[in-house]
Amino acid sequence: MKPQRTLTDRSARHAGSSPYDQYARQLAARRRAQRTGKRVMIMLLVLGVFMALLCGGLLPALFFDSSSPLEDEQLQAASCNFNNPGGGAELGSVGNLSKEQMGHARTIVDVGWEMKVPSRGWIVAIATAMQESNLRNLAHLGARNDHDSIGLFQQRPSQGWGSELQLMDPRYTSRKFYEKLLTVPNWQQLEVTVAAQRVQRSAFPDAYAKWESLAIQVVDELTRGGTYGRVSYGANPMCADPGVVSASGWVVPTTGPVGSGFRTRERPQHNGVDVIVPRYTSIRAASAGTVVTVLCNASTNNCDVDGSPQVKGCGWYVEVSHGNGFMTRYCHMVKQPSVKVGDRVTAGQLLGEVGSSGNSSGPHLHYEVHFQGDPINPEEFMSAQGAPMRA
Ligand SMILES: [Zn+2]
Repeated sequence: MKPQRTLTDRSARHAGSSPYDQYARQLAARRRAQRTGKRVMIMLLVLGVFMALLCGGLLPALFFDSSSPLEDEQLQAASCNFNNPGGGAELGSVGNLSKEQMGHARTIVDVGWEMKVPSRGWIVAIATAMQESNLRNLAHLGARNDHDSIGLFQQRPSQGWGSELQLMDPRYTSRKFYEKLLTVPNWQQLEVTVAAQRVQRSAFPDAYAKWESLAIQVVDELTRGGTYGRVSYGANPMCADPGVVSASGWVVPTTGPVGSGFRTRERPQHNGVDVIVPRYTSIRAASAGTVVTVLCNASTNNCDVDGSPQVKGCGWYVEVSHGNGFMTRYCHMVKQPSVKVGDRVTAGQLLGEVGSSGNSSGPHLHYEVHFQGDPINPEEFMSAQGAPMRA
């Protein structure tokens, strides 16, 4: 099922800090979050009854709803495993960030929490402040200043963001950032850098992306491992599972029973996970990124008919590069995928439909996740991102 031509995504190899370290930290954070989760198990059991009542029939309508602030703080806290970040607890440190920088990050998260902005927004806000001010509350720098930019987000009085005095108030400036972010359509499905740019209109729009991993770690530290909980973008946070984009920006490509897993004893060469779903089921991008491959890969050179175990190749398939060394692959589509190479896709955007082309004995999605060119276990990875393959 491995395509004859393999694309690698090694762009992050030369990044300053190893993305694998970040991935490992994410896994550790996930485990911390799971431990915390046990404590709220009893509350969850009670809530489960409400969930069952609320979820019936609502999910399809909510699946690709536009974002809206969450309705009920307590339900949100229980279902998504979030902890209120405030409360004056001792601040841990992340990377080389000082106490002052962490303090500003906490203010940003606190304001986001109070405004009921889903946690992905906290990550966008912190990545933006890292880029704009290095998380410092910068006063007007005189001649060295970039226009009349002020404060954590370098917002400009002349552009209607507020007075100079207001913009030096981290709470005020954070609130202005979130207010603008919430007006950006589908902001939770966008890459961090795109969402940030829609708010900031920076002269350097691609500069935000490099801060995403650090911003995730910071939010994770401030929420004691809560970042990787599920975040809905529908009106009801309880019912959006499992079609939701997680705080770290991932969503399951399709929902169904998992058949063959990653490199099992029976199939050590199986580099992905098989999701058994009917023909024509939608396959969605697992995270935002750029389409790097759209090909028919079959030893028969025909992907418009069902393959078989004798045919080699993954049929009609798509690969999406997500940056930070991650790439995803989607195999055996029923017909030519609906995206083209070079398309920028959002998390959850339609890529194509399930079929059985190539090396396949029946309709299913074969899904792979690659890190720095090598396949990793998609189920483990997706769980760590708060978007588990198994409900
Ligand atoms: Zn497979």
